Amino acid sequence: MDRGAFLERVREGAELIRMHVELGHTIRLISHRDADGITAGAILARAVAREGGSFQLSIVKQLSEELIKELASEKREVYVFSDLGSGSISLIERYLDFATVVVADHHPPEREGFSTDSHLLVNPVPFGANSVRDLSGSGVSYFVAKEMDGKNKDLSYLALVGAVGDMQEIDGTFHGLNLDIIEDGKKLGILEVRKELRLFGRESRPLYKMLAYATNPEIPEITGDERKAIEWLRSRDFDPDMRYWQLREEEKRRLHDALVIHLIKHGAPKEAIDRLIGDVVVSPLYPEGDPRHEAREFATLLNATGRLNAGTLGVAICLGDEEAFKRARKMLDDYKREQIEARKFLIQNWSMAEEGEHAYVFYAGRNIRDTLVGIAANMAINAGLASPEKPVVVLADSDEDPNLVKGSARTTEKALAKGYHLGEALREVAEKLGGEGGGHAIAAGIRFPRGKIDEFIRLFNEALRKQIGGNDGED
Ligand code: C5P
Ligand code: C5P
Ligand code: C5P
Ligand code: C5P
Ligand code: ZN
Repeated sequence: MDRGAFLERVREGAELIRMHVELGHTIRLISHRDADGITAGAILARAVAREGGSFQLSIVKQLSEELIKELASEKREVYVFSDLGSGSISLIERYLDFATVVVADHHPPEREGFSTDSHLLVNPVPFGANSVRDLSGSGVSYFVAKEMDGKNKDLSYLALVGAVGDMQEIDGTFHGLNLDIIEDGKKLGILEVRKELRLFGRESRPLYKMLAYATNPEIPEITGDERKAIEWLRSRDFDPDMRYWQLREEEKRRLHDALVIHLIKHGAPKEAIDRLIGDVVVSPLYPEGDPRHEAREFATLLNATGRLNAGTLGVAICLGDEEAFKRARKMLDDYKREQIEARKFLIQNWSMAEEGEHAYVFYAGRNIRDTLVGIAANMAINAGLASPEKPVVVLADSDEDPNLVKGSARTTEKALAKGYHLGEALREVAEKLGGEGGGHAIAAGIRFPRGKIDEFIRLFNEALRKQIGGNDGED
């Protein structure tokens, strides 16, 4: 990618924000509701506060036309969007023409940029970055913050928590500009990247739970079965109740070897084995055993707040609020429980999935919460319900509007190699259905009227067929 050109854009973004802070304007921050968006919002908020500026931050589920209109009615001088906005360039131009707007984001943008000088798109994708590997929304925000003041390098750990929340290192290693963030953090001594077990629960879950609840990748015959996880660990001389972080280095290595052998024996795909052990980010800013000590647990905690509509609580955690942290820990347990239930539901009802030529579509009604359909779609792939060569969409009734369904599409690198781009496909289908859709090549979302599910299935398969016939579709 053209780093120089991207960093120049970052500089312009930082300059605009700093200028408005100097003018005494409140910086209106709007960020996305997942771990990436929450950390992005927290990073920008802290950067503005450090400049002596004031901010007002909202964490939102998505950027709809209604929301942009509402924001416009606030009549602010300056709006900064993070981890969203790239898909709404035209709407932002239409409704926020009177204000300065900075979009710090990593989603494939609607266009390469804005057409006016007062609006700025800071996004590495037009400069050649891969939107789901090279930098997340929190990463873009981090670059802007660091440009505002070098002191903000101490926000590098938060930036990586966001990256891990978006699964930017899903293949087992970090890429692209994420590596710069790691370097910054290492130099400051506030983070460390180890080659360790990449499963959720390294800090706060006993080993047997870490294994029994592994879904990304799954561990054959152990995922979903606590009893088997305990037996498996005992028979290999591990104490099932220990935490992973408590193991000695030699024990960790022995566990890694045993797991890899187990996966190979059960014919797990190479991709699953490759990403089982890989980059794990930990930070000495928090004690061992604290979920915030490791990026995946931290990200999961933030996702739990966001998905239960308490994203600002997540921001408070990022800004160091211990009370907020205590409250969120309770949410985490519910969030995990719901995920496990969603997996069970999928496995028991997968025969209801509509398998088309190019995609599976599974309608879960109200059985899976609409904020968990993305995780469910990944689970269908990781559990082997769906072939990794074919994209999966899980649909659920919208929490907010009973007349709408929310869908998440997920797939694998293998399927992308054929030329699919899920974000473009969903954007196109949404336009035809009177909904809204978009996102990355490998992960995208949509919302549309519930009565149109059959039409959706037909149109989505059609859009994907066109993509591999037309042979476009990079990130
Ligand atoms: O894909 P989505 O945005 O829904 O994922 C949000 C979070 O959920 C990410 O942090 C991801 O790691 C996590 N996730 C999960 N279980 C899966 C897949 C993703 O908890 N099977
Ligand atoms: O909106 P945003 O960019 O924050 O979210 C990216 C989404 O893509 C997350 O839900 C993440 O879990 C998902 N993802 C995925 N598979 C990947 C990379 C990202 O499902 N390989
Ligand atoms: O993120 P990863 O895919 O490694 O997740 C492994 C397990 O951790 C999954 O069971 C998932 O439910 C959980 N997880 C989560 N939220 C995240 C990341 C992981 O609940 N953000
Ligand atoms: O909603 P879901 O988690 O499935 O979204 C997957 C990815 O697609 C996220 O990065 C999300 O921000 C993006 N997305 C989008 N436009 C939409 C819906 C989702 O860019 N209308
Ligand atoms: Zn993101």
